[in-house]
Amino acid sequence: MLRVVLLGPPGAGKGTQAKRLGEAFGAEHISSGEIFRANVQEGTELGRMAKTYMDVGDLVPDDVTTRMVVEALSRARGGYLLDGFPRTIPQAEALERELNDRGEPLSAVLAFVLDLEIAVKRIAGRRTCSACGRPDNVEFDPPKVPGRCDACGGTLEQRSDDEEGPVRRRLEVYRESTEPLLKFYSERGMLREIDADGSEDEVFERASAALADLRGGASSAEASRGARP
Ligand SMILES: [Zn+2]
Repeated sequence: MLRVVLLGPPGAGKGTQAKRLGEAFGAEHISSGEIFRANVQEGTELGRMAKTYMDVGDLVPDDVTTRMVVEALSRARGGYLLDGFPRTIPQAEALERELNDRGEPLSAVLAFVLDLEIAVKRIAGRRTCSACGRPDNVEFDPPKVPGRCDACGGTLEQRSDDEEGPVRRRLEVYRESTEPLLKFYSERGMLREIDADGSEDEVFERASAALADLRGGASSAEASRGARP
């Protein structure tokens, strides 16, 4: 069973890949942001606890977030691809402790790797049609008429946080917070790096191969244990 954490900078296509990989491998794509919102909306015990901090503008403590995530993971009986968590070393340590206690450690951490300049180009190229909402990318899939939606002719607009300055700052924040995590998982021999420079299909092929390898490795190890007298 695949128990995998996904890491990757904005622009690496991690969300799209997570969805496709989850479908291909029968594993649940678990987004920590969605879990968080669901707990708060449904008013679960953890959600109410989180809300008391949010209401006064405080950060929700790591142990509350970790408990929400671990609860969601334990319900994913077919395995999972966890997206958006952990973001810090204390969260990674808490997750490791919880999963080890359950005897269900992570299979691996898949890190999508993308050159900073390519990530900037990809994100800064994003446009959305103001009329029909169709997404477009002037860098990778330029519209037939510049500035106009291919589907309806509407005006293509850029979100202000997709402009180059904000994008560079976002990528810098990602790099600073993620580098320690990459080191943490690399030291444990759990890190698998996926080259995210390529088409969506190419990156999907690379990530699929890594997951198939993980799953194959687990099942052959189980088979050889079973075969022992
Ligand atoms: Zn349109």
